[in-house]
Amino acid sequence: MKLTKTDQKKVAKEHVKQLLSEASKVFDKDKKLANRYVEMIIAIRNKIKIRLSKEQKARICKECNSFLVPGKNCEVRIKNKSIIYHCKECNAARRLSRGEDSRKK
Ligand SMILES: [Zn+2]
Repeated sequence: MKLTKTDQKKVAKEHVKQLLSEASKVFDKDKKLANRYVEMIIAIRNKIKIRLSKEQKARICKECNSFLVPGKNCEVRIKNKSIIYHCKECNAARRLSRGEDSRKK
């Protein structure tokens, strides 16, 4: 059976969700494994071309691809209308607006 593109995306999104929840489970014990899950998520995203939700994007550092856990390796600050995520792994800061996705194409 061949999956249609829509089905493929659905499956991929489900897979990403699972990988993220696995990553948060293993993070405390094995950060490297959590980052492996992130690599898998990025591979899926690039292959299937799905968009991650804002919440999902917030868990992955765009610079170093680390799995981010607020209060652990990520500092979250709220400034005006933006949420600033500061990755403590690579020191990158990233701003997400609280309303619309500011990087809409
Ligand atoms: Zn980073």
